[in-house]
Amino acid sequence: MTTFVDRVELHVAAGNGGHGCASVHREKFKPLGGPDGGNGGRGGSVTLVVDPQVTTLLEYHHSPHRKAGNGKPGAGGNRTGAEGEDLVLPVPDGTVVMDKKGNVLADLVGNGTSFVAAAGGIGGLGNAALASTRRKAPGFALLGEPGDAGDIVLELKSVADVALVGYPSAGKSSLISVLSAAKPKIADYPFTTLIPNLGVVTAGSTVFTMADVPGLIPGASQGRGLGLEFLRHVERCSVLVHVLDTATLESDRDPLSDLDVIEEELKQYGGLEDRPRVVVLNKIDVPDGQDLADLVRPSLEERGYQVFEVSAVAHKGLRELTFALAKIVAEARAAKPVEEATRIVIRPKAVDDAGFEVAYDQQEDLYRVIGSKPERWVKQTDFNNDEAVGYLADRLNRLGVEEALAKAGAREGDTVVIGATENAVVFDWEPSMAAGAEMLGRRGEDHRFETPRPAVDRRKEREAKRADAAAEEFAQFDPLSRHAIEAEDEDY
Ligand code: GDP
Ligand code: MG
Repeated sequence: MTTFVDRVELHVAAGNGGHGCASVHREKFKPLGGPDGGNGGRGGSVTLVVDPQVTTLLEYHHSPHRKAGNGKPGAGGNRTGAEGEDLVLPVPDGTVVMDKKGNVLADLVGNGTSFVAAAGGIGGLGNAALASTRRKAPGFALLGEPGDAGDIVLELKSVADVALVGYPSAGKSSLISVLSAAKPKIADYPFTTLIPNLGVVTAGSTVFTMADVPGLIPGASQGRGLGLEFLRHVERCSVLVHVLDTATLESDRDPLSDLDVIEEELKQYGGLEDRPRVVVLNKIDVPDGQDLADLVRPSLEERGYQVFEVSAVAHKGLRELTFALAKIVAEARAAKPVEEATRIVIRPKAVDDAGFEVAYDQQEDLYRVIGSKPERWVKQTDFNNDEAVGYLADRLNRLGVEEALAKAGAREGDTVVIGATENAVVFDWEPSMAAGAEMLGRRGEDHRFETPRPAVDRRKEREAKRADAAAEEFAQFDPLSRHAIEAEDEDY
């Protein structure tokens, strides 16, 4: 079967954030100069942008794996790692982005409209940024967050104004060839290997495109033939033209029942109900054809169709048809809302950054903590470093994870999983009030919380909260707030 370039599956991977650096400032005669490990750089994102120069998805068909650059790690001397290079993928106007299940993520209409298909991981904080009064010389840094990665499907729908539908051999291709003033270069249109027939029709001052929908046969909506693949191209057309054969030799067919069959397929496909329809009775050059056309015209008109009798071969009735179509196209264009030149940037995930949820999973007998903050924090933690694990415990605690676990009924020794199934990290929960709570890391190592929660020390808590808030702000990668963190840290 032909490969359809109007639908591609693309694997996109954003860059990982660079790791933060743990380093101590060294200078002659100053053996302990304080932490000076810089932050890791943000990973590059993969972004789709509507580009008027691009008309096909062909390029992605050839190389469907795309990756943005990784952020560089931070370094000593407070040097921040370089950011990973963003990857911008130009796509044609009208590209629909979906996940593999067919859920629409974005409908990219209008030049410049962009969609972040995979967001880069944020860089890990270096130990300089993690220092506080309580933790003067952190011996750890945060890991860079892995970039998003996954499969997306790009689909391009047609820009044709007029779509010809009808049985095979009704004369659709012939009509396009005689009606169109120019055969557009195939590269000018997004169909490439797809639609063999596409024409540009000129009628007075109106210029419009006309596309053939080959392969629309009875049962097409159930997947017979290729009709559905092609129908996707006409979803955005303004007019549907039924091309009916008045000279068919098949005994069980006539223009009226042909029309019913095609309408049924369109109905099954759905979404085209609102499109105006016009009927073309073709092949009236054949004597019997003209008779049949005369016979069925009244019932077609009764059904509300505008009817045109033509002959693609003898060039009859073409002018009337062309001008009538031009009028409908012009009206449809006038009725369309004006498209804004540049549209919004769409991010796939709704970021609910503040919250988290604790749920008991009865089947697996464990408590699951779901939330963007706890999940990100876990990814940022170097589980080989006790101090880093202690820092994670503090952060989770301050967010209220422990409290929520207790409320949900978790007890000492219960299994707690942070994150959705795949990269989840499993812990044996020990309420941190009991000092030395045990923790099981990714590889099952045994870690101990370094810092038990202080009884009541408002000042320390405030400070810690501030450091966390700063870390969070950094996570939003706002360069201004990053400077703010660094400035603040110098005071400690
Ligand atoms: P499609 O399958 O709908 O694209 O049909 P085609 O355009 O390929 O035409 C099928 C056959 O019908 C070809 O042999 C054409 O020459 C013939 N045909 C198309 N239009 C006319 C017409 O107006 N009169 C006659 N006599 N034959 C036609
Ligand atoms: Mg054809």
